[in-house]
Amino acid sequence: MQVKKSEFVKSAVYEKDYPEELNNMEFAFVGRSNVGKSSLINSITGRKKLAKTSKTPGRTQLINYFKINNQFYIVDLPGYGFAKVPKAMKAEWGKTMERYVASPRKKLVFVLLDIRRIPSQEDMDMLIWLDHHNIPFKIIFTKMDKVSNNEKFKCMKDIKKKIEFHNDDVLFHSSLNDTGREDILNYIESLLNK
Ligand code: GDP
Repeated sequence: MQVKKSEFVKSAVYEKDYPEELNNMEFAFVGRSNVGKSSLINSITGRKKLAKTSKTPGRTQLINYFKINNQFYIVDLPGYGFAKVPKAMKAEWGKTMERYVASPRKKLVFVLLDIRRIPSQEDMDMLIWLDHHNIPFKIIFTKMDKVSNNEKFKCMKDIKKKIEFHNDDVLFHSSLNDTGREDILNYIESLLNK
């Protein structure tokens, strides 16, 4: 798929603020802060500053909707795992996420994991939670430029001690050289055409 147009639509907290549904499915991205979520959204849309890459925790609590090719939405969900976030903000994050996940909109959630990191408890909770709600999800390993091919398999082996996945059922991406960008776009396209 070619991305010809991508635009910010709106930020939302409550379901009433979500934009009108566009397609049979929307594509959300979630992950621990610093996993590379903003960089990945910029990479796949081909827009350097669409999702901001330098953020303060206070401004990251919103759900951001982007419209691609006037055809479907990409949804930037608030990141988790900020070290210095007050408890009340974490509770807010949980409610915002709960509302989104429980909303009847048909969605696929891309869960981003840094290839070099053992998944945190929050990463595992996210996967269990999506599974529990029967929300389809797909893992994307980020920052692939930081590992060699050998290291990639060693990292995946270590990550498998914490979470289950099949090697050919996950996606890989690097924002440095856009590796994996096409795979992600093709995957989205295959679901849009279903
Ligand atoms: P977010 O908090 O998940 O939105 O993460 P950002 O996109 O802001 O990225 C966090 C940091 O990781 C920044 O310093 C990025 O430059 C860096 N980063 C993100 N993606 C990649 C990548 O694919 N490769 C490398 N080497 N660095 C990356």
